[in-house]
Amino acid sequence: MTDSTTPTSAPHHEIPTFGNPDEPAEGSINLKGDTRSSRMTGPRNPVIESQFPSQMNAPATDISTQPFFWSSFNISPRRQQLGGWARELTQADFAISDEIAGVNMYLAPGGMRELHWHQTAEWAIMTRGKCRITTLDRKGRASVEDVEAGDIWYFPAGLPHSLQGLGPDGAEFVIAFDDGAQSESNTLPVTDWFAHTPTDILAKNFGVPVDIFKDIPLHNLWIFQANEPGDLEADRKAARVAEGSEAVIFRLSRSEPIISNSGGSIRFADSSNFPIAKTVATALVTIEPGGMREMHWHPNADEWQYYLRGSARMTVFNTGPKATTTDFRAGDVGVVRRNLGHYVENTGDDVLEFVEVFRSDRYEEVSLANWLSHLPPELVAQHLNIDPRALAQFPQSTQGVVPLKQR
Ligand code: MN
Ligand code: MN
Repeated sequence: MTDSTTPTSAPHHEIPTFGNPDEPAEGSINLKGDTRSSRMTGPRNPVIESQFPSQMNAPATDISTQPFFWSSFNISPRRQQLGGWARELTQADFAISDEIAGVNMYLAPGGMRELHWHQTAEWAIMTRGKCRITTLDRKGRASVEDVEAGDIWYFPAGLPHSLQGLGPDGAEFVIAFDDGAQSESNTLPVTDWFAHTPTDILAKNFGVPVDIFKDIPLHNLWIFQANEPGDLEADRKAARVAEGSEAVIFRLSRSEPIISNSGGSIRFADSSNFPIAKTVATALVTIEPGGMREMHWHPNADEWQYYLRGSARMTVFNTGPKATTTDFRAGDVGVVRRNLGHYVENTGDDVLEFVEVFRSDRYEEVSLANWLSHLPPELVAQHLNIDPRALAQFPQSTQGVVPLKQR
């Protein structure tokens, strides 16, 4: 395997462990060089095994087990229609993901995700192409916007919207609903409401003759091929967009990073800089080859991750103690429960990019290095049996991403 996504870090067994874990010892540390015990005699799938080196041979520091925190849109069934497709990971598919449900959708040029609304809020990040979105705010004021790769949108629960792919390549994006039970198939489409309302009521509601409704669709359209829209300004005028409606989009990848160093960058969006996003906070992370998202945790929400490019390894530290290491690639999804310690290491030769999504109005994290550097050094030294002079070399603040020059 020589492709660029093959992990290049040293195999775990070459990393010094200094005897940890002491009790109970788990994993290959128990073999004491005798590999007979690690033989696998049953059916194997080398393709899947190649994707999960940390599952096949966990670092000696792992201590099992905790609920699966890996899933992927790459294994999710794709619902295809003329106009586009979608696939999703709800809590029914991915048990740990009870705060966020994810959808990966593609809309061809002109392809329309029909007018609809739902009982949960919708956050999304554009990953490819260009999309036109329409919505209403709480005061009934219209928005019509074009978004492209790196932009996010947020529709509060219950507010109606549509999404339409634009040329030349359509639009691909990932949606996060602020409820793990929400599905792209349990929404409220406008066509269904028309089809399931007596026609005399429709006529009375809109003040028109009944036969106006003789050709309405009897089944919802969900995703369908429509005509590609024209000029954005013309659509805004036609929809009577007025100044003053609340911003529903944020150009995340073009925003100023809160962290930027030789190891990578972090950009964020929450209700402090994107006021409408009252239930979803976001961090967009890039990690250079050899770099690492530092050891940290989040006190206010579970972290739902979507890997946009590259390859990664993450260990989740849980009570017990438990520690489980898993590998991630582009298209994969991870979930880290709130307060559980974790790091994310770039294991490839390319930039690693992923997005962290939290069901919260604000982004919060606790950095292990920042904590340990804000304590009397003697206090820390007595816990870890590390010389206070060595502790003084630790970072003195939150780094977000570990700078390469310090490694
Ligand atoms: Mn929606
Ligand atoms: Mn995190």
